[in-house]
Amino acid sequence: MKRTLSLLAAAAVGLSLFTSVVSAAEKGYVGISMPTKSSARWISDGNSMVEQFEAAGYKTDLQYAEDDIPNQLAQIENMITKGVDVLVIAAIDGTTLSNALENAAALDIKVIAYDRLIRDSGNVDYYATFDNFKVGVQQATSLVNGLKARGAGPYNVELFGGSPDDNNAYFFYDGAMSVLQPMIDAGKVKVLSGQMGMDKVGTLRWDGAVAQARMDNLLSAYYTDKQVNGVLSPYDGLSIGILSSLKGVGYGSGGTPMPIVSGQDAEVPSVKSILAGEQYSTIFKDTRELARVTVGMVDALLSGGKPEINDTKTYDNGVKVVPSYLLEPVMVDAGNWEKILIGSGYYTADQIK
Ligand code: BGC
Repeated sequence: MKRTLSLLAAAAVGLSLFTSVVSAAEKGYVGISMPTKSSARWISDGNSMVEQFEAAGYKTDLQYAEDDIPNQLAQIENMITKGVDVLVIAAIDGTTLSNALENAAALDIKVIAYDRLIRDSGNVDYYATFDNFKVGVQQATSLVNGLKARGAGPYNVELFGGSPDDNNAYFFYDGAMSVLQPMIDAGKVKVLSGQMGMDKVGTLRWDGAVAQARMDNLLSAYYTDKQVNGVLSPYDGLSIGILSSLKGVGYGSGGTPMPIVSGQDAEVPSVKSILAGEQYSTIFKDTRELARVTVGMVDALLSGGKPEINDTKTYDNGVKVVPSYLLEPVMVDAGNWEKILIGSGYYTADQIK
């Protein structure tokens, strides 16, 4: 009797395993190619997508390329060989995927550019992202508000940009300059180094060590007898490097205030830094929402429907304007972090302590 029961139980497990494999295979197979695990946001993106795709009945293959372009290409080719129906890609270098995507298109594999636009290819079906220009506007607005709260200017500000091979970096920079350029023209903001424009302020691969080294150079070349009051930083990982450079020459102690430093992604070390009064602000982009939009796009695409989009003008990738869905970024600082980050359940209070 016992034996019959356990045989029955085993059969039932086998059957349910079989059904879930069959239904996952019926819904589709999704290859998810993420750039790196070195930044927590991409880990959240990957986890949220796997969770949400699997809950919706898809099979997933999630790969991280550790910021190595040939590695990402090999991972994508491998997903194509394994027979995925859709590729969801956050590119390391948005211009390097054209050949791989041609192979995908030949097999009728759909392609979604995730957060970062894929450039120079007609084989990109949709783009799920945030309003990237607005991210830059919010970064510069919080920087200016922080500066104003400290007193009347003019303010000495240095500028940092993201990776020049990431289309987003230009949107962040342009958004920020839409706020800062008029103040520079009016003499209210001064960039003592004169280093402006993405060709001068870009930070390859969003590398915090590169930003730290550039900040060291700026401080020793232009700020030995003057103070820097603010730094436009487009990403928390860069902000951390910039802040350690500033601390290294005595900012944040002995009557020399830490400059106002912006950021992006609301990563835990930066939220802690904001609470410690070092970094001034960051931008929260809810990766759970981006995953939700992406799953929705895939669902619509594979069932012959039309994915929901809210922008058909902004993201020209050099070959076509990619239909996009833009989510809203949210500025976070010491005043609202708890409401935004804990209140939304993105972090637990314990993670920030
Ligand atoms: C993303 C940002 C991120 C940066 C570095 C950008 O493409 O939009 O959220 O801070 O890459 O990972």
